[in-house]
Amino acid sequence: MRKKFFITFISIIFICFFAYDFSFTYSKNKILNSNVYRITKEYLSKGDLKSNYNLLSENEKNYLEALRYYKENNFEKASGLLMQIKNNATNDTLLFYTNFYLNQCEKRLNEYGNFDYIEDAFNIMAKYPVLSNETDLIWQMTSSVITDTNSKKKIIVLLNNFLEKAKGLELENRLKIKGFIAMIKMSSEEYGESIYAYYDILSQAKKIKNPEVRSKIEVKSYEYLGNMYFILDDFSTAIKYYNLAISIPIKNLSENAISKYGSYVNRSESYIQLKDYKKARESSLETEKIIPYLPETLSTGVKIFRYKNLLLLESRNNNFEKANEYYNLCLQLLKEDRGGAFINSKMYVELAYCEMLILQKNYEKAQKKLNILLKQDLEEEWGFDTSIYLLLLKIYKETDQTENFFVTGKKLYQAEKVFNDTLKKDYIEFVKNSYILDQLKKQEKISRIKILTLGGLTFIGIISIFFGLIKIKNLNNKNFIDSLSQVYNRKYLDFLMKKPLKNPLSSIIIMLDIDYFKYYNDFYGHPAGDLVIQKVAKILKNSLRKEDIIIRYGGEEFLIILKDANIDIFKEIYNRISKNLYDEYIPHEKSLISDRITLSAGATFTYFEKNFDLKPSIKKADEALYISKKEGRNKYTII
Ligand code: GH3
Ligand code: MG
Ligand code: MG
Repeated sequence: MRKKFFITFISIIFICFFAYDFSFTYSKNKILNSNVYRITKEYLSKGDLKSNYNLLSENEKNYLEALRYYKENNFEKASGLLMQIKNNATNDTLLFYTNFYLNQCEKRLNEYGNFDYIEDAFNIMAKYPVLSNETDLIWQMTSSVITDTNSKKKIIVLLNNFLEKAKGLELENRLKIKGFIAMIKMSSEEYGESIYAYYDILSQAKKIKNPEVRSKIEVKSYEYLGNMYFILDDFSTAIKYYNLAISIPIKNLSENAISKYGSYVNRSESYIQLKDYKKARESSLETEKIIPYLPETLSTGVKIFRYKNLLLLESRNNNFEKANEYYNLCLQLLKEDRGGAFINSKMYVELAYCEMLILQKNYEKAQKKLNILLKQDLEEEWGFDTSIYLLLLKIYKETDQTENFFVTGKKLYQAEKVFNDTLKKDYIEFVKNSYILDQLKKQEKISRIKILTLGGLTFIGIISIFFGLIKIKNLNNKNFIDSLSQVYNRKYLDFLMKKPLKNPLSSIIIMLDIDYFKYYNDFYGHPAGDLVIQKVAKILKNSLRKEDIIIRYGGEEFLIILKDANIDIFKEIYNRISKNLYDEYIPHEKSLISDRITLSAGATFTYFEKNFDLKPSIKKADEALYISKKEGRNKYTII
C-alpha cells in the first residue's frame, strides 16, 4: 500500500531543524543595531511589541504599526502599510522584513505566499550574513508557497539561487536549506534526487563541529530517508533508518523529542504494516515517553498519531471496544490540533477508523465514509487515493459488489502505475546524473548507489528488464571497492581509463609497496599480514587529499593518482604518509631496515590530454619503485 508522506511536512522541519536557533556571531553589524532588526527579533522570539522604541523614522513607525496589525490578525491593514514602506524605503533591513511580512500577510489572506515578495526577500538576505543565516524565516516563506508541482519547482530554483549567492552562510544553515530542497523534492515524488540530497547532507554534516547541531541534522536526514522507504513499502528498511535516527544522542531532552518524534511515530506504524504487533506496541510505549518533552503545538499531533496507531493495533487484534476508545481520543484531540506536528492528521485517523469498521464487518458505514474521504482527497490532491481504493476493494470483495470491484481495481491499478512510472523515471534520472557528475570519484558515493540498489527497491528490477539500461546494470554489478582494504580495486582502474577526460589533467602517479612483507607474513602469519594491509590503506586514505585516488593494485601494492599535482605536492603528501605510518608504529621484527612497517615508493609525473591511459605511467612508476627498493627501501624515487 502506498502512503503519501507529507505528514511531517510543514512545521516539524521548521521547528526541529531550525527553531530555537538564534545564535548570532556577527557582532558590530549595522543590522544588529538597527531598530527594525531589534523590533522584529523581539517580536519573533517573544511575541512582544513595545511602544518605547526611540528614534523611529517615518518608515520605521509604519513598520511597527504594521506588525501591530499583523499581531492582531488584521492582515489587510498590515499589508497596506507594508506596501507603502516597500514603495519608498531604501534601507535593506527594513525592506527585507517588509517583504517577509508582506508574504506572510498574503499567505494568511489567500492561503498562498507570493513569489515576488519571496524573491525580493531572498535577494536582500543573500547580501548579509546576519540575514542569510535566518533559516527559520526562509522556511516560513518557502512553506507558504509549497502547493502544486510548479510552485515546488519554482521555489527550488529560488532556494538554489540563494544557496549560490548567500554571503556568510554557515555550513549548518546551508545544510538545512539543502534539507528543505530535498524534502520538497520528496513531496514531488522525486525520490532519487531526494535520497541523493540526504546522503549529501549526511556526508557534509560530518564537518559540523557542534555535536548537538550535527546530531539534529543527522536525525532528520535519517528520518526522511526512512520515510522514503516507507513510501516505497519497504518497511523493514524504513525501520532501520528510524532506528538510526533514534539512536543518535541528543542531550537536551526537549530537542531530542522534537527531532525524533517523526521517527518514533513512523516506526510504530512501520511495525504495524509488517504485522509485528509486539514491536509496534513497544514502539508506541517509547513514543509515549518523549511526549512530555514536546511543546504543546507538537504533542497534540503526536498523541493523535500514537492513538491512531493503537486504534489500528487493537482492531487488528479484534479488540474493537479498545480500538473505539482510541478513536474517540483521537477525535477529541483533533479539535485542538493545529497541524503542528503532522498535517492531514484527520485523514489518517479516519482511514484507520474505516479499517476498523471493515474488520468489524460494518461495511455499509465504512463504504459511505470512504467515498466521502475519496472525494475530498481527489479534490485536495493529498494523495491518499491508493490507500482508500484498497480499503474499498476489500469491502466490494466481501459484499460481492462485482461491478464496483472491477471499476475500483482499475483505478487503483492506474494510480499505482502512475506512481511506478514516476519512480522508474526518477531512478533513471538519478543514476544518469550520478554518472554524469562523476559521483564515482568518491568511494562513499559508490556505496550510496549500492545502498540504493541493494535496498530492495523492486522497481530497479523492472528497470533493468524493461529498459535494458546496460550501462546502469553494469554499474550496479561492478564492485569497485576492494573488500580487504576498502580502497578502489583494479576494476575501478579499468573503469577510470575508459572514461574520456573533460579537461586535460596533470597528475602524479605513485606506486607503493610494503617493504619485506613476505618476511612479515612468514613471521606473524597471513591474517596479521591482512591487518597490516588494512592499516596501511587507512593511513594512505587519511594522508591524501579529497580528490586523490587510491587503488589496491596488487597484494601489498597500492597505486595512487594525485590529480592536478606537481612535485612539491607529491613531496608533501609522501612526507605525510611516511610520518603517519611511522607514528602508527606497526612492529616488524623481521624487517632488515627498520623496527616497524615501512613503504617504498616510485613516482612519475604525467600530463593527460583526452585519454586517461595510465599504463605507460604505471610502468614508469614501477621502475622508480624498483630503484627505491634497490637503494635500500623506505624511500621514494621520481622519474
Ligand atoms: P619487498 O617488497 O620489500 O622487496 O619485499 P616483499 O617481501 O614485500 O616482497 P614481495 O613484494 O615479493 O612479497 C609480497 C608478499 O606479500 C607476498 C605475499 O606473501 C604477501 N601478500 C600479497 N598479498 C597479500 C595479502 O592479501 N595478504 C597477506 N597477508 N599477504 C599478502
Ligand atoms: Mg610486492
Ligand atoms: Mg613488498
